[in-house]
Amino acid sequence: MRSRFSAYATQQYQYILDTYAQSQRDTLSVKELQQSDKETTWLRLQIVNCPDDHTVEFKAYSKFQNQFNLLHEISIFTLENQHWMYKEGELLADTGQVKLNRNDQCLCGSGKKYKKCCI
Ligand SMILES: [Zn+2]
Repeated sequence: MRSRFSAYATQQYQYILDTYAQSQRDTLSVKELQQSDKETTWLRLQIVNCPDDHTVEFKAYSKFQNQFNLLHEISIFTLENQHWMYKEGELLADTGQVKLNRNDQCLCGSGKKYKKCCI
């Protein structure tokens, strides 16, 4: 899970494709992944809950065209050849644009207030 987030953050789309479950790998390409992630900067990953071996609930923050976004997802992994592969995800209701106030701590991880940072 963390390694896939890191791969998104550093644009290693081949790794992302390689860690999809077989059924998904057959229908995706590195190019498609690249295209869908274009201009997005991944900032921060927060693991919310791991109820069992193959389920991870997480919040991932990203920035796209000066707008912060939250991806809140429950991901299901499946074991293939002793590796955990990403099978599918369910988006939770608060996924979408994040509204920040000027005095809120910036989401980019700088530790500064939003008004003095990415605003
Ligand atoms: Zn910032």
